[in-house]
Amino acid sequence: MSKKYYIKTFGCQMNVYDSSRIADMLQNLGYEEAASPRQADLVIFNTCHNRKKAAEKVFSDLGRLYNIKQERLAEEGRDMIIGLAGCVVQAEDEQIAKRAPYVDFATGPLTYYRIPQLLEEIGRKKGVSLIDTDFPAIDKFDYLPDNQSHGGCSYLAIQEGCNNFCTYCVVPYTRGAEFSRPVEAVLAEAKRLVAGGTLEINLLGQNVNSYHGEDSAGKERNLAYLLRRLSEIDGLKRLRYTTSYPADVDDDLISCHRDLSKLMPYLHLPVQSGSDRILKAMNRRHNRDDYIRVIDKLKEANPAIGLSSDFIVGFPGESDADFQATLDLVNYVKYIQAFSFKYSRRPGTPAAVYENQIEEKVKKERLEILQNLLFSYQLRFNTESIGKTMPVLFDMKGRHKGQLIGRTPYMQNLHAELGKEYLNKIVPVKITGANTNSLSGIAEGI
Ligand code: SF4
Repeated sequence: MSKKYYIKTFGCQMNVYDSSRIADMLQNLGYEEAASPRQADLVIFNTCHNRKKAAEKVFSDLGRLYNIKQERLAEEGRDMIIGLAGCVVQAEDEQIAKRAPYVDFATGPLTYYRIPQLLEEIGRKKGVSLIDTDFPAIDKFDYLPDNQSHGGCSYLAIQEGCNNFCTYCVVPYTRGAEFSRPVEAVLAEAKRLVAGGTLEINLLGQNVNSYHGEDSAGKERNLAYLLRRLSEIDGLKRLRYTTSYPADVDDDLISCHRDLSKLMPYLHLPVQSGSDRILKAMNRRHNRDDYIRVIDKLKEANPAIGLSSDFIVGFPGESDADFQATLDLVNYVKYIQAFSFKYSRRPGTPAAVYENQIEEKVKKERLEILQNLLFSYQLRFNTESIGKTMPVLFDMKGRHKGQLIGRTPYMQNLHAELGKEYLNKIVPVKITGANTNSLSGIAEGI
């Protein structure tokens, strides 16, 4: 009987990507995916350290998993290997052996390509916990098996790490310094994904638009160059990239939004705050005017573009006037989607020890005001979609029989009554209904 694995992913799209690469590695070792941890011989938690109490949640989930492991051993005589991956490992490596000594191996986000070796070592040294949190000087992507297409939409990591050191963020400490993959490696991976059925590629990086990979002649190339090369791939229908840093959006990249029909008319461009004072305290390399200039140029290049952003409310020292500046910015840009959070301290980051922390009650009130405003623009945009026909890429089965879920060019979730033969296909859909978070529609011409 083949061995089974189960991976639970926490956090960002980069972790989703890493988990699918770990799955590819395990399948190469002969493992099959299990439907639940209880059925798995190997369970890996791919963790995120970007939310408050993230490490606490991982340790409590690990405790529950350990109980399942013990039950399985007692009832079926089958053991389970427990592995940890991702940013919590990088940030909390010393705590793991103390708080969860039953973890068999733990690997940071830059070293998970070594999981097959770690599994081999576990086989040799039973009962020893292996923790691997190097920042290796090699390209982990050279050591991973080929990225398999897992459906119509695929992630493709082109850049990793960050040199920006925003004062609230752990990424530069957990993912290390910026690194860009070579152009040819990215193109080869994209072609493989398209050959495997991918129609849409979402290029990933913590700071994706700072991409500066080398081409085959050793010349550094930017994201705009890469997007143009990727858009030449036959069979590839859609391109996206995330997450972008406003100060690194240059005119070349903006021109791609005018010239490349495969580049979707949607951009996630996190601003975090509309106040210059707060942006400075966050150590962001853009101010409000810089950001607005970029937005205006993008709208000029493609008037149909829809924008999305991230916001942090209640950053240390945020006054009512600073918060109002954020609301004003939202009213100017009219985001079609957004992610907003209360500021929470990340141990080891500069802002965690700022003295002028904001009261929880104030943060909560501000978040509610901001979200109500953001949701009103999101609902307005979704409602305005009614009556339009959009190409929708269906990549998931819906909750109800005969229903599929897909994404419009604007990343709106849409559900329609469609047979599973349309899974991983792009279908024109007339939008018939809308709420804040999703659309419904009727497929046309089929
Ligand atoms: S740009 Fe700032 S928020 Fe984004 S990953 Fe880098 S340090 Fe973190």
